[in-house]
Amino acid sequence: MRTAHILGLTRFLLIFALFLCPDTTQASNFVSNFETLPAVERMPPKVGTWKYTPTVLICEYAPVDEIKTRSAVAFWQDQGFKFFTTIYKRDSLNKCKSDTPAGFIVVHLVTQEMHKRMETDTLAETHFYLDNDTKEIEWAKIYLRVEPYERVLEHEIGHALGFLHYNKEKHLMHERWISGGWDPAGLKR
Ligand SMILES: [Zn+2]
Repeated sequence: MRTAHILGLTRFLLIFALFLCPDTTQASNFVSNFETLPAVERMPPKVGTWKYTPTVLICEYAPVDEIKTRSAVAFWQDQGFKFFTTIYKRDSLNKCKSDTPAGFIVVHLVTQEMHKRMETDTLAETHFYLDNDTKEIEWAKIYLRVEPYERVLEHEIGHALGFLHYNKEKHLMHERWISGGWDPAGLKR
């Protein structure tokens, strides 16, 4: 389990990780004030919507190329989500250094500190900041550990948009990469 950092009374930082290995016994790593969610619901659970139309920003050392980035954003546009723009490795507003990059989905390489505490089979981790009263997401940070496998960036952007894990076989939001797939059921805006 990972710790939720409670920033103020009604604001929560939610943290998710995507695992590669199918046979570890970790349960859902969803941590928040919400009750534990059942393993499989009818639809992928969604806890919030963006307060702003988000910009996707790939930071300097993030291990993802521009083509993969654009294709992951296009996947979510196909589901009806809007993005202000996508910026690849240019950071004139210094959002990559910001702790609270409001309006942005910022994609980073994992920090050394995170790398040390991450399980070895963790591929990526997404943090997003939710106002629990309005259910509005204010910012999100995606940390990629390695050049993402197929679907990893799409999955993490799914978290950044407010979706939780949905452990239906072959679903994009399955918490284990190896059991997931491209099934987009329930992801339309
Ligand atoms: Zn995940």
